[in-house]
Amino acid sequence: MARYVYDFTEGGREMADLLGGKGANLAEMTRMGLPVPPGFTVTTEACKVFLATGSEPEGLDREVAARLAALEEAAGRTLGRPDDPLLLSVRSGARFSMPGMMETILDIGLNDESVKGLAKVTGNERFAFDSYRRLVQMFGSTVMGIDSALFEGELARLKRARNAPDDLHLDAADLAGLVGTYQELILRETGEEFPQDPVEQLRRSIHAVFSSWNVERARIYRRREHIPDDLGTAVNVQTMVFGNLGQDSGSGVAFTRDPATGRPGVYGDYLPNAQGEDVVSGIRNAIPLAELQRLDPASYEELCGHMRALEDHYRDLCDIEFTIERGKLWMLQTRVGKRTAEAAFFIAHQLVDEGLISQDEALERVSGEGLARLMFPRFDSESVAEPLAHGIPASPGAAVGAVVFTSAEAVRRAAAGEKVVLVRQETTPDDLPGMVAAQAILTSRGGKTSHAAVVARGMGKVCVCGAEALDVDPAARRFSTNGTTVTEGTVISVDGTQGVVHLGAAPLVDSEVVRYFENHGQPAGEGEQPVVDAVHRLMQQADAVRRLGVRANADTPEDAARARRFGAEGIGLCRTEHMFLGERRRLVEAMILATTDDGRDRALAGLLPLQRQDFVGILEAMDGLPVTIRLLDPPLHEFLPDRTELAVRLAATEAHGDAKDPHEVELLEAVNRMHEENPMLGLRGVRLGLVVPGLVAMQVRAIAEAVAERRKAGGDPRAEIMVPLVDTVEELRIVRAEVERVLSEVSEETGVTVDCPVGTMIELPRAALTAGRIAQEARFFSFGTNDLTQTTWGFSRDDVEAEFFSAYLDQGIFKVSPFETLDREGVGRLIEIAVAEGRATRPDLKIGVCGEHGGDPDSVHFFHGAGLDYVSCSPFRVPVARLEAGRAALEGTQGSDSR
Ligand code: ADP
Ligand code: MG
Ligand code: MG
Repeated sequence: MARYVYDFTEGGREMADLLGGKGANLAEMTRMGLPVPPGFTVTTEACKVFLATGSEPEGLDREVAARLAALEEAAGRTLGRPDDPLLLSVRSGARFSMPGMMETILDIGLNDESVKGLAKVTGNERFAFDSYRRLVQMFGSTVMGIDSALFEGELARLKRARNAPDDLHLDAADLAGLVGTYQELILRETGEEFPQDPVEQLRRSIHAVFSSWNVERARIYRRREHIPDDLGTAVNVQTMVFGNLGQDSGSGVAFTRDPATGRPGVYGDYLPNAQGEDVVSGIRNAIPLAELQRLDPASYEELCGHMRALEDHYRDLCDIEFTIERGKLWMLQTRVGKRTAEAAFFIAHQLVDEGLISQDEALERVSGEGLARLMFPRFDSESVAEPLAHGIPASPGAAVGAVVFTSAEAVRRAAAGEKVVLVRQETTPDDLPGMVAAQAILTSRGGKTSHAAVVARGMGKVCVCGAEALDVDPAARRFSTNGTTVTEGTVISVDGTQGVVHLGAAPLVDSEVVRYFENHGQPAGEGEQPVVDAVHRLMQQADAVRRLGVRANADTPEDAARARRFGAEGIGLCRTEHMFLGERRRLVEAMILATTDDGRDRALAGLLPLQRQDFVGILEAMDGLPVTIRLLDPPLHEFLPDRTELAVRLAATEAHGDAKDPHEVELLEAVNRMHEENPMLGLRGVRLGLVVPGLVAMQVRAIAEAVAERRKAGGDPRAEIMVPLVDTVEELRIVRAEVERVLSEVSEETGVTVDCPVGTMIELPRAALTAGRIAQEARFFSFGTNDLTQTTWGFSRDDVEAEFFSAYLDQGIFKVSPFETLDREGVGRLIEIAVAEGRATRPDLKIGVCGEHGGDPDSVHFFHGAGLDYVSCSPFRVPVARLEAGRAALEGTQGSDSR
């Protein structure tokens, strides 16, 4: 029979799928002998059944009852017993941590009777009623669905009536009254009494946690983090310990290293006389954890010891939640902590030095996405003006945007394409859509562990929190600070690395990591930023283990040179269309309009020397490395003026009674002649070369002459000629014959043997499916995954991204855009077929990819697995691809957990 409940003493870290992250780690800490209040976990499987059927699985209630009986037996108390109640918490805990997403209910077991018993046994009436009002509030909002703002409103009203600056200034009678007020509120809102039966409280709380898996903010968070929707959450039922029993009690959170920078040390917040959720919610201001050393040295020492034990055990940065009940320390949660990109690199590097992990494991712990983040520009500290405000640097990076005060406004403006900064006193899970939409988050309250900070770090968003000088007035849509008032829509700059805010758009400079790559991947030496050292070591490791080559997509000598500095091993895609624009457009027009062979040849002859010089520059920048040059690809009419514009101009001339420019008349005829309904599926790619005489020959001649020139200059040019948009081997056969003819002509003329391998892009499903035949004529393949994605799905990127992609993402049809991350199931399948059949024909076929997927981490892993020889991406993504290619090579070689 299926089993749905596990005691903390039965589980462990390896059972996270079943027990959720929190439950698995509570069990692991129990196993390590750390002081964890006893309890048990209801599995994610039970949640799945509940969500699918609307009721709990058969037998769950019996299992829970049996576990509860065992807890009661061990504690010597029973749940909700009137004279000395056992109290429980019910805590959600999914496989992947979703901070603040799911609900927690504390103090279950209290009712109008047992609250008196609790007061008596603790000798603390205020504490008992404080706990009870928390239960009624959490149960009312989470289980019974009442807006929590109504409870907050009552609490605020009471505080005002008593002139109490915070909740600590309310006494037992106040809180007892508040319980009554809350109970009336519940009755009024739901027509139902707050349940007095502890077992009913427990059962309904468990159901509420199950259901919370599907609340909107949980869905939004999962979509953003690419967490599957069908995992479900586990539920942890745990004996309560009390941090709100007086000044010798309290709750806190801590990190074993700084999650912002990775530096070792004691980081965290502590709140005396409070239950845990008070710390995270930022309701009262917490004190730095280090001050606990003074308040309660014994607990502090014990805590530090547990933190060291956890780091040694998990071999990573851990974050923890703890509570002290009358001087006794309890561990309530741990997990491998979220961290910034900088901290991830720094910590991985440092754990190698500390001997805790190997170089390969260090590589598994960082990510291309994180590296890309370290390459974002930062504010130029030399030239920024006096800051508007200072706060806590909670999540690093530089962001500029217009100030907004509500989540809805952030979403509205961002949808219209505006960059915004969300400014709040503090954030709650309800602000999540706005946080996703914003460039940065700025709050006036809360520390490094506040909701804003934790969520922003998880999302890689810039965040400055606790900027106390800010007086935020969301109703009036403005904030003021040190005499300056800033209204909604004003542009500010938020520096999450320094924790400062500037008025206006501050100037940006390259990050130190970009400067490092610009320096050919050599650290500048003494005094280098520690994160650069870490990046350097990890890049070296990635290069040592990776099998995939990494090339760049570069069209100019400058891009080629930068790509090379960033570690590219050649150019995988050199587009030539820009060589037909600008001044040269005139020649292209002449070529298109030519009515005689002569006229066309003259135009082509004009283009030839210009294009040759372009190639000389690129081949020089990439000397000794392969440069894959793609023959002209886009439809020719892209080089002609816009049809409507031209027609309107001519009509206006006519209306004025002026003479029409004959050249323009001719142009319009050409434009009309060449107009296509679906240009991307029209006369382009190899088709152009087969239809426009001399076009292929001119381009090949430019390439071949450039090769000859470079060779004569003592260089080592390695041009490869790539034919775009091939559907069938016949096309390639004809074009290749022409290429070979021109190559031998140029070889003869120059006396330099020019041998450029000819290959093709595979970017149409038909090409992928007939790759075995195409390989007869191709020395190499390069997957053009942008077009291959468009033609496989049958939609055009430009149209769908604006039109309906967000609806598709919302409805879960896509987890992520197939233009961002390769669609393994469809497009990937075509790639696998083409690789297998291409290599069957020609075992030494070189195969790469040159779509934007070449720089996308997940796609790089796929290309590694599919056996490609290299990926090619924009110069800026080259380091990302190198790192991910290294990580891909390690995949499956050791127990890896990448999230
Ligand atoms: P989250 O996943 O949002 O962090 P938790 O389940 O960790 O939610 O619960 C929130 C807070 O409630 C915790 O920080 C902890 O301090 C407090 N808490 C949970 N269970 C208990 C317990 N058994 N005793 C005391 N405090 C608890
Ligand atoms: Mg927690
Ligand atoms: Mg293409």
